Amino acid sequence: MSLPLQLPTIQNWSCHVCGGCCRKHEIEVTPEEKARIESQNWPASGELPADQPVFVAMGRSGKRFRLAHQADGACVFLNEQGLCRIHAKFGEPTKPLACRMFPYTFHPGGKRILVGYRFSCPSVAANKGKLVAANDRDLKTLQNDTVPEGAAKIPAPQVSPGEQLSWPDTFVIVEALERLAGDRSKPLIRRLLELNVIAGLLAQARFEKIHGPRVGELMQVLLDNVPHELPEDLGTIPKPSSLGRLQFRQHAAQYARRDTFVEARQSWAFRWQLFRAAVSYAMGSGKTPQMPSGYAPVPYADLDLPGGPITPEMDELITRYLRVKIQSQSFCGLAFYEQPIAEGLRALLLVVGVFFWLAKWRFRADGRTEWTFDDLAHAVTVADHHHGYSPALGGRTFRSRVRQLAEMEQIAPLLVQMLT
Ligand code: SF4
Repeated sequence: MSLPLQLPTIQNWSCHVCGGCCRKHEIEVTPEEKARIESQNWPASGELPADQPVFVAMGRSGKRFRLAHQADGACVFLNEQGLCRIHAKFGEPTKPLACRMFPYTFHPGGKRILVGYRFSCPSVAANKGKLVAANDRDLKTLQNDTVPEGAAKIPAPQVSPGEQLSWPDTFVIVEALERLAGDRSKPLIRRLLELNVIAGLLAQARFEKIHGPRVGELMQVLLDNVPHELPEDLGTIPKPSSLGRLQFRQHAAQYARRDTFVEARQSWAFRWQLFRAAVSYAMGSGKTPQMPSGYAPVPYADLDLPGGPITPEMDELITRYLRVKIQSQSFCGLAFYEQPIAEGLRALLLVVGVFFWLAKWRFRADGRTEWTFDDLAHAVTVADHHHGYSPALGGRTFRSRVRQLAEMEQIAPLLVQMLT
């Protein structure tokens, strides 16, 4: 039985054939997909260079394969016009599922399937294309291929470790978070800080006796009272400590990388470069390394300086980002390294700080005096590529860094510094 889809209500998208996803991702293929592509007989077609492999083995088992990349990093099937050769010759349904899905995400939501988007696609970040409901038919086809049997039985994400509610109660919490994230009567920074306070309260809450209507009451009390937890003048929030800044730089460095793990396997030279970059981020003195494409090194100190005003367009982008990620529950549970809501919410707030840090880096690298919407939109595509997808972000180091930043009460100071 196919479950109803819950679509993001505020997101547009159509493919604008930029080819970016065919350069950034590692496409693992199932045995069936590999056999299908082999039956298309590409080596004999003369369309690929004679010495170009089509598949590369993953891991040591010899059982997993991904599509190979060309020397410039593009997928083996991406042609000079930026189009997919498989799609052009044999039709869209014959492409690997991972290609057909991007940039959609499908996550279980009890008796529904939550649809989200990956903002690493520039058209998603720019909100370009058809209203999501207009893509409904494509989504239904994909849903049949992607949603496993038994999805309706998957339990809701925990609220905090050991605290789990029913799906309906979990939706009450998530909807309250989305209401706050989308309340544009408040400045963006204030909404982020209020969400941070709520993350802290959810991390401590015990839900044994709180179910049904009481969950809604609790969330309303939180939403009503959280504004009073913050100072009137956010300028009075202390600057981040040097340890907080160090932790944040290391955190941001994970998102500043262009790769997830494709290049990391390639050579010792690449690994050495990563190691040197990691030392540089930890030291935080001198200049940043050259890491994300197009971002030249800049003095670290410049990234702590103000970037400029947040324009309504920038506010709209981040508000939409937060709402889509919260609505689709892409920030917690199975969609986000099985992290509870409170922990995933903190990671979501920190990635917004990373967006602005990268936006500062980009305009400083260009020798400009202020950030623009394009700087922020580009930063969103760079960092969201990793959020929920890079294995490193689900690891112990990343998670304990988020926890430490919360325990040291550094998330609010860092957000204030990054967003101003
Ligand atoms: S198979 Fe086609 S759609 Fe998939 S990554 Fe390669 S070029 Fe892009």
